[in-house]
Amino acid sequence: MTDLTLVARLLKVVEHDVVPLTRAGVEQGNKLFGAAILRREDRSLVVAATNAETANPLWHGEVHAIKLFHELPPAGRPDPGDCLFLATHEPCSLCLSALAWSGFADAAYLFSHADSADAFAIPHDIAILKAVYAVPDPDREAPAPGRDLYNRSSRFLSTADLAAAVAASQDPEAIATVARLRATYDALSATYQQSKGAAGIPLP
Ligand SMILES: [Zn+2]
Repeated sequence: MTDLTLVARLLKVVEHDVVPLTRAGVEQGNKLFGAAILRREDRSLVVAATNAETANPLWHGEVHAIKLFHELPPAGRPDPGDCLFLATHEPCSLCLSALAWSGFADAAYLFSHADSADAFAIPHDIAILKAVYAVPDPDREAPAPGRDLYNRSSRFLSTADLAAAVAASQDPEAIATVARLRATYDALSATYQQSKGAAGIPLP
């Protein structure tokens, strides 16, 4: 993603619309993953959401946002094709499929799968992609070690890495925002990790 104005807008939505929801969700034992849906045309916010696994293990931030989107009155709800999808963390296999099935073809994320596993101690995205999906095709050779775990660009869905875009831009303000958000999510992660397991989430 090379449109820095858009990157800055998406970071602002994370900071001001998603983080407050996530702060409250983490206090209740939910994970720190959040999401938002914006109109592509004017980049206005349609819905913001956070993980609500304590209510239902399928309410990942992204799926929860799609649920809330469909609870809006049809008249005020844009076509998914006219929307941008924003995830704080690179979508897992459940959420990648949810985005494809619900018609949100463009998704940007701030933190990568590797960040979720390493910085936030939630290794399930990579573990499930490897264990459930990255099986060797019996008619072909085994998958190459280190290969991508999903297609970041396909006819169903393209994902964009905001942190990589910011790093490449060398824009001081965007770099400072990402650093601030990283500190915010480190603090949210510490809160979640302290209470992890207490809320009965299947994969805490
Ligand atoms: Zn997910």
